[in-house]
Amino acid sequence: MKVKIDYLDKFRGTLFGVAIGDTLGHPFEGQTRAHVLSRFSNFEQFLQNNKFLFNTYTDDTQLTLHTAQALINGDGFDLKTFIKEYIKWLEDPPIGPGYGCYSSIRKLKQGIDWKQAASHSGGNGTVMRIAPIGLFYNKSLMELKNAAIQSSKITHLHPAGELGAVIIARAIAFLVNIAPKENFSLERLFEELISSINYAQNDIGDEFRQVLKEVHASVAMNLSLEAGLIKFSQIGVKKPYFIEEFMGKAFVHPYAMSTVACALFIFLSLKDSFKRCLYELATSGGDTDTVAAIGGSLIGAYKGFNEIPADLIDLIRDKKKILKIADELYAKYCQKYSPNNDNIQSLRK
Ligand SMILES: [Mg+2]
Repeated sequence: MKVKIDYLDKFRGTLFGVAIGDTLGHPFEGQTRAHVLSRFSNFEQFLQNNKFLFNTYTDDTQLTLHTAQALINGDGFDLKTFIKEYIKWLEDPPIGPGYGCYSSIRKLKQGIDWKQAASHSGGNGTVMRIAPIGLFYNKSLMELKNAAIQSSKITHLHPAGELGAVIIARAIAFLVNIAPKENFSLERLFEELISSINYAQNDIGDEFRQVLKEVHASVAMNLSLEAGLIKFSQIGVKKPYFIEEFMGKAFVHPYAMSTVACALFIFLSLKDSFKRCLYELATSGGDTDTVAAIGGSLIGAYKGFNEIPADLIDLIRDKKKILKIADELYAKYCQKYSPNNDNIQSLRK
């Protein structure tokens, strides 16, 4: 018999996964994995002794919460509501913002049309905030794709930004439909991820599909974390963005493709342990807060809120606010899609 999915638990787990990953990863941003790992022999101990370092989340969580709020306010994706909500982020104020989001959202605030305001960045700023779209549209994959693409274009016009966002939104949609302790087929997951970007018949689309195949093969052969991170850290990054100095090292480049590859690789390699997965995401090197926010959303979507260790939840600021937004997003989702209804499968196309 199929286990009934507790979608509320999955919504909460996903948003908390983002916040926990972001909070654990941000003190290490911009450092190589080798440097990060040289700072301690036991991460858990380091965390206990240095709680002051892990005292906030950053732009990844802020924009994820604004994405969720925009879906709530707009009854789903609505361009104007999204723009309005992202402009509100400037008043939070932004914590450790990335270039692509910050530059374009400041222009939006000046009243510049989004097509002119959007950056040409292929950075991971679209992917780090996409989880709520994966949650809200998990029963309606056409709407999921359209919302992921349109919400990305508000700030990032480079195709890698939207493709990364579509892939992670689709992964979230896949994972919330798996019971927390149920195993799932890697083949099925990658088939879905690759088919989600089949619409992109361009070079970046080809590269992304190839990278997904390589991540799949690496997880299937149990490639070590170190080898995988070295392999995927700068995958797809081109001149002049490629960082010569970090060749052969684990340092995740903030490009959408390399970030998605590393987050998926670490999550799938360590999906059985929430803590281990989060600790390795946070210490992956390079853009650690974003890799861990995205990887955190994946394991949160898979395991749900009830499986998250209490000490990690305690670490997070604004717990009540995150819980409230998760619950309101879920309520809006129920109004629209009635989860656990047997007819929902017909909506998955
Ligand atoms: Mg950040």
